[in-house]
Amino acid sequence: MPKEIVSSIDFKDRLVPNFLRSEESQAVIEAEQIALLKLKLFKTTYSQNLPPQKWGIALKKSLRHYPNLEVYDELFSEALKKAWETDFAINQIQQEFNGNLASRSKELFATIFGIVPKEPVSITAKKQLLIFKIQKSDYCLLDEDLLDRNGNSRSSVGFFSIESYKDIKVPVIVLLADYSFQEKIYEHEKQHSQDYFQHSIIFNFNSRGKPQKLKKLSRRFGKEQYLPYGRAENEAKYEILANASLFDLCEKLNVAVEKSEILDELEQDLTDEQGVYYQQYVNRFELGLPEDVLEHDKYKERVSAGINSYLSLAEMYKNIFPGKTNRMAIEVLGQFPLENWPAVVRLISSRR
Ligand SMILES: [Zn+2]
Repeated sequence: MPKEIVSSIDFKDRLVPNFLRSEESQAVIEAEQIALLKLKLFKTTYSQNLPPQKWGIALKKSLRHYPNLEVYDELFSEALKKAWETDFAINQIQQEFNGNLASRSKELFATIFGIVPKEPVSITAKKQLLIFKIQKSDYCLLDEDLLDRNGNSRSSVGFFSIESYKDIKVPVIVLLADYSFQEKIYEHEKQHSQDYFQHSIIFNFNSRGKPQKLKKLSRRFGKEQYLPYGRAENEAKYEILANASLFDLCEKLNVAVEKSEILDELEQDLTDEQGVYYQQYVNRFELGLPEDVLEHDKYKERVSAGINSYLSLAEMYKNIFPGKTNRMAIEVLGQFPLENWPAVVRLISSRR
């Protein structure tokens, strides 16, 4: 285990002192700025349909507002490049189908998944994603997690994955057709896809010879992979964010929801030994690990503390980022490992 990576950011789960010049608080301030910049870029590139040739200029302009983020210029450029490549890949597939995916949806499905569907398939091409809606009998053949290790059926109704169409890599979301909360599942899986890209771009970024800040950010995203319980915690982190993403819509429509009640259910799924996610992540990742490195209680504590941290941050942001309270909480926390969330929230609250 590379020790240096594990200890590269030393966020202690402790009360934050009043002085704020520490490296940790700098990282937190930057995380908020990165989140704001990301939202702004997303708005200009997608919502306002800016042609890709102008994305680089949009980035330069946005960076002028945050001079201390210029060090991350290369990372942002990489993210924009990746976004463009994904859009291009989806366009390429659409062109091969003469822009008419609907009429040959079964054929596309069969090429991608290697299974000829028995029932109707509907396909929608979106920015960054191909969405498949399929029937249960075909769905059962696709989702390998549909059965847990005891052979019991889980209630899977959608998933995100990176698939290949011939030699084109394409991100897909598969949804169970006829499921009444399909839109919710779509939002959930969409968050997973965004997190997947963010995580892989930063984690795979070659920071050799690059400024320390870039190295640290990259290591922060890779840290969990090296800890015995890290992978389950990492999955739990992304489930919390995916569930929280559903509250974006509520905020947009100004609908009050009891977030904590909804997240209580998620906490159960993640920490209860019979819970679907517990079975899926903890049980799977603990296979082969020696008993003495397993820290079930610590994992459970961190999940609970993580959910509480998200709730506090979303509450705290209500007056600071009106209209994007929830999104900001997700974007900021998403930049830190789950175990650091309580410290991150304390640092933010001590500044305000
Ligand atoms: Zn999920």
